[in-house]
Amino acid sequence: MRVGFIGLGSMGSAMAARLIDAGHELSVWNRSPGPAEQLAQRGARRLDNPADAFSGDAVLTMLADDDAVRTVVLANDALQRAPNKKLVHVVMSTISVAFARELERAHAATGLALVAAPVLGRPDVAAAGKLNVIAAGAADAIERVKPLLDVIGQKTWALGAEPHKANVAKLAMNFMIGAAIEAMAEAVTLAERYEVEPDKLMALITGTLFSAPVYATYGGLILKGEFMPANFKLTLGLKDVRLALAAGETAGVPLPFASIVRDNLVDAIGHGDADKDWSAVALVARRRAGLDGGTRRR
Ligand code: NAP
Repeated sequence: MRVGFIGLGSMGSAMAARLIDAGHELSVWNRSPGPAEQLAQRGARRLDNPADAFSGDAVLTMLADDDAVRTVVLANDALQRAPNKKLVHVVMSTISVAFARELERAHAATGLALVAAPVLGRPDVAAAGKLNVIAAGAADAIERVKPLLDVIGQKTWALGAEPHKANVAKLAMNFMIGAAIEAMAEAVTLAERYEVEPDKLMALITGTLFSAPVYATYGGLILKGEFMPANFKLTLGLKDVRLALAAGETAGVPLPFASIVRDNLVDAIGHGDADKDWSAVALVARRRAGLDGGTRRR
């Protein structure tokens, strides 16, 4: 297929590389030139203007957030300028529910199909093509981009015809990841305070009641204290928890756990951890217990 790809950050670069390797004809755009140059060496065509990516069979956007999608897509009139009205726009970023609805209206006004397809999985999972894709949009539009989603992910979870529902599901999942990290950080800190051996604790957690990828992945990072390089930046995690809170506020759904996670992420940023992986929120629990940097208080 002829595919435009916009947003070549940690996730987008890995996904675009897989599409090239699968034989799709990619035209790529990124705000900073480096990542597009790297993909050009793999065979992608580099674009000077993101609106030009809207000229093939499909365009995938993997930009950071609402503002980035607004700036790159809406403010550039990319939808209006798309010559092929059968093109499907697949928005894979984690964005707000309110903005997803705005995108639904903007696409309806221009006659372009919109598929919201946020993903579960980190850059290493993206590079292996093992993401889980949460997709919502018109069934025929999802069908048209299925060959692309199948290269990117191990499974596509269809959530119906209204794109924003995929974004609601993604935010619900990311809120749960944030809550799991917070719960694990507090539990690991408690165990550390009593000098429980980290490896034994981890084996117990993941070998019994919490044998889920989220505990294995983040529990491992927390116990090792390995937060750099960030696979998922703490600031992106804060964005997602804030978006879940905003969606809850709009619908009259209180999310008190999410408020705690949000405050702790802000605390981490205040202590200089913005560029670390979002599991670095565990440092907040450690500081409160007097275990900062491994220095015991007692
Ligand atoms: P990232 O590495 O920070 O990349 C962000 C991308 O957005 C880059 O291409 C960046 O361009 C671009 N961008 C940001 N602001 C922009 C603006 N104002 N105008 C134009 N381009 C802009 O983020 P990522 O980890 O790839 O995440 C991308 C999306 O996937 C986010 O919505 C994130 O929440 C979601 N996600 C991430 C993960 C993960 O584990 N990383 C997992 C699932 C979902 P530059 O290169 O020029 O900065």
